[in-house]
Amino acid sequence: MICEMDDAAPIDIATRLATVRERIRRAEQEYGREPGSVALLAVSKRQPVSAIRAALAEGQRAFGENYLQEAETKRAELSDRDIEWHFIGALQSNKTRPAAEGFDWVHGIDRLKIARRLSEQRPAGLAPLQCCIQVNVSGEASKSGVEPEALPELAHAVAALPRLRLRGLMTLPEAVPDVASQRAAFRQLSALQAGLVAEGLALDTLSMGMSNDLEAAVAEGATLVRLGTAVFGPRPEANT
Ligand SMILES: *Cc1c(COP(=O)(O)O)cnc(C)c1O
Repeated sequence: MICEMDDAAPIDIATRLATVRERIRRAEQEYGREPGSVALLAVSKRQPVSAIRAALAEGQRAFGENYLQEAETKRAELSDRDIEWHFIGALQSNKTRPAAEGFDWVHGIDRLKIARRLSEQRPAGLAPLQCCIQVNVSGEASKSGVEPEALPELAHAVAALPRLRLRGLMTLPEAVPDVASQRAAFRQLSALQAGLVAEGLALDTLSMGMSNDLEAAVAEGATLVRLGTAVFGPRPEANT
């Protein structure tokens, strides 16, 4: 049974990846975005290493993980592969070290305390940690993310940290079925980013859009869409 699933998975993922790439390409075209301006982050949380290998075989290089311990196991198994690792989960201030040491990107910064620790803990031999600040745009279900009013102060402080490189903003909006509401949340993030750029911050990344709302995100300027189920299929249940 397990063998059968392992055999089937790579083909399945190749097909899904091709479909997803086509979806992104079509959205770029439809909304007047430059071809190739939207990058795909494959969210591999709770997916087995075999699924990551299957995506690697199709040329996917950027992978997103939400759980530090799970990510550590996967990174160890895939240490010989050229992978760009993105941490997209919630960060607690006492658990920043594995994120600072093991990832290329962290998307969920919402407090200066966490950013400071990441900067202090980023090993000298590595490139600066690429970061996005998570913003709680209106309608966001989860309470994580900085409030828009507090964003400018946090963004300027994070941008000044020596071992971080602030690249842009990230959001995880409430799942809503209609495209107009999806777009409204993403438009807000886009506008906040434009405001920071006008204040002199060199930001180039809008991390927004998931499997169910990627078109709305691309329409509003996403440069990085974070797709899990669209790439890998349904996630296996967590066994805890
Ligand atoms: C799980 C997750 C995703 C991917 O969600 P899908 O709906 O499976 O595409 C994207 N971003 C974050 C922060 C996530 O936790």
